[in-house]
Amino acid sequence: MSFRFEIEAREDKARSGRFFTPHGEVQTPVFMPVGTVASVKGVPQDVLEELGVQILLNNTYHLYLRPGVEMVRKLGGVQKFMAWDHPILTDSGGFQVFSLSDLRKVTEEGVMFRSHLDGSSHFFSPESAMAAQIGLGADIIMAFDECTEHPAEYARTQASMEMTLRWAARSKKYFEEHKHEVPWFAERNRETQTLFGIVQGGMFPDLRRESAQRTVELDFPGYAIGGLSVGEPRPMTYEMVDNAIRFLPDDKPRYLMGVGTPEEIVHYVAQGVDMMDCVLPTRAARHGLLFTSEGRISIKNVRFAADEGPLDPACGCKVCARYSRAYLRHLYASNELLAQVLNTVHNLAYYLDTMRKVRQAIQLREFARFLSGFRPPHLAPESAHSQRGSEFPEI
Ligand SMILES: [Zn+2]
Repeated sequence: MSFRFEIEAREDKARSGRFFTPHGEVQTPVFMPVGTVASVKGVPQDVLEELGVQILLNNTYHLYLRPGVEMVRKLGGVQKFMAWDHPILTDSGGFQVFSLSDLRKVTEEGVMFRSHLDGSSHFFSPESAMAAQIGLGADIIMAFDECTEHPAEYARTQASMEMTLRWAARSKKYFEEHKHEVPWFAERNRETQTLFGIVQGGMFPDLRRESAQRTVELDFPGYAIGGLSVGEPRPMTYEMVDNAIRFLPDDKPRYLMGVGTPEEIVHYVAQGVDMMDCVLPTRAARHGLLFTSEGRISIKNVRFAADEGPLDPACGCKVCARYSRAYLRHLYASNELLAQVLNTVHNLAYYLDTMRKVRQAIQLREFARFLSGFRPPHLAPESAHSQRGSEFPEI
């Protein structure tokens, strides 16, 4: 058995535990930084290790186009390729393909799309998306789904959800027949990857419930909730998460895809979510937008020009230990590469530290008190924006 999930502590709906993969164990709840093309932009792997990153997300669509699945397979799989001997999760490619709205065509068989790199034509079916993810060799891979656009009408959302269910069954069938083809199968004692199913259902509570129930009938070792944080108001996100989670098995991990702000990820944990990923900390960092214990900071602001203090006095990261706000502002204003590196290191440290505190609070049964220290995120004025892009209007 390659994959095992153990819950060690609970407080209300929140859970803390760990899961085990062929490339190591992961403590939950976990935040997964995004390394789109097998790289967290600007941050070397040894620094990710120092930060305590447990598992990375890579994007199948991007790696499929470049350097290509065959190349990664020949090089031993994505962990070896990127010199990251720890767990990796790949998405199915579905979300990226569906983001190419005018470059794609969807049929029952799959999705025809054009590369954003050179305009060349490609086709992803549930089978070929599985083949790509098996070739890349991430520890956790995702069933091929259709991420329903927002807004969408009921009939359209229902039809999309039905297709995602058929695609989930096809994904699972292909995976079961080919899972031994993962590049590190022999070297990891015939362990293999773990395939998660994805709940869709748009913004309709009954479709979320039905999608959850019927995905569970297909029997996956873990379940993702997809198609959220796509521009809907935040209270609706919470409602949809709740309508999916209530119908997911208690003893399997739940992965909420593509969220959120530091305040929001804490609240999703309170709803029973175990895994999350988001581009927000890394993308915002590259735009000089930093999360701190004193709130959000735009480091480009002139008020930091002579500020000798650390970015976040409460942060233990090596950026906050060494550099002043004045220096960080200067790097950003001068368009130095180092600005992006240091900003990203801090934002990741802030997210990972938040999640570390969450795990500790649940284990000590102090999570309710911890949670009360976070501003109700749906009251935040920017909460209606999509985090897939960014909540910051200037990005
Ligand atoms: Zn810091």
